[in-house]
Amino acid sequence: MNEIEKLFERAELFLDNQQRDILQNRMIITIFFENSTRTRSSFEIAAKRLGASVVSLDVSHSSSSKGETLLDTAANLDAMGPDAIVVRHKRAGVPHILSKHVKCPLINGGDGSHAHPTQALLDLFTIKQHFKGDIKGKKIAIIGDIKNSRVANSNIELLSRTGLEVILVAPPHFLPKTHLRTSHDVKEIIDSVDIIMSLRTQTERHANQIYASLKDYAEDFCITKELFGERDILLLHPGPVHRNVDIDDIMMDDSRCKVLEQVKNGVAVRMAVLEKLIKGEEQC
Ligand code: ASP
Repeated sequence: MNEIEKLFERAELFLDNQQRDILQNRMIITIFFENSTRTRSSFEIAAKRLGASVVSLDVSHSSSSKGETLLDTAANLDAMGPDAIVVRHKRAGVPHILSKHVKCPLINGGDGSHAHPTQALLDLFTIKQHFKGDIKGKKIAIIGDIKNSRVANSNIELLSRTGLEVILVAPPHFLPKTHLRTSHDVKEIIDSVDIIMSLRTQTERHANQIYASLKDYAEDFCITKELFGERDILLLHPGPVHRNVDIDDIMMDDSRCKVLEQVKNGVAVRMAVLEKLIKGEEQC
């Protein structure tokens, strides 16, 4: 956790949105084999704010679509001498494998339903920011398609280490096997939690539709003003938000909903991650 605290101290400074030259003359490659708007642009803005140049590979036109193996793609990228590579892939484990075949740091920008480490970091940063660091004993409910969510996986791993109690709330088909407390009913837990993290239904990862309809899902799991009431609860979502399915329009505009703070914090946290991985701890 010490390492994370140091990262967060740097991220705190980077919230000023100032242009810096910490990574001047450095080059970062982003290669996203799976769609992304937020994460990719967040990494690219983070790199540019630190003075690095960014080469963003267009996968639809890349050699992998011409039959090149992933490892050959990695070897070729590596030969160009980047200072870091950010990878997203629909298969779990691809960034881990690629990292063994490149000389520079390789950052997982999300792999299948397995992990999304920088999202969990920015979520923890946002939670700590809100509670002014005092998060021990606080309770968070993660609500939605937890089983297929890399955001949930990374958060469960990270938040559980911080002294937060994590409760998983979902219909049975969206719940993974877990030792954590679970519930199928938001109303059952809402009075006892300090934070709610709503998740998007990962329809692109469902082999078959195992639920009746998103409308039915929303009736039970959408975070509405009616459900939230006046409770002092922090509301998070990694985006993209499926409005009126995950969170309703009114709650999206509510000051307790921190979706845009998460996006802002994401750039600062990724700046801290890039700085640490490229320049090493002695500079941080
Ligand atoms: N943006 C997040 C991810 O890449 C969440 C989502 O897509 O639902 O996993």
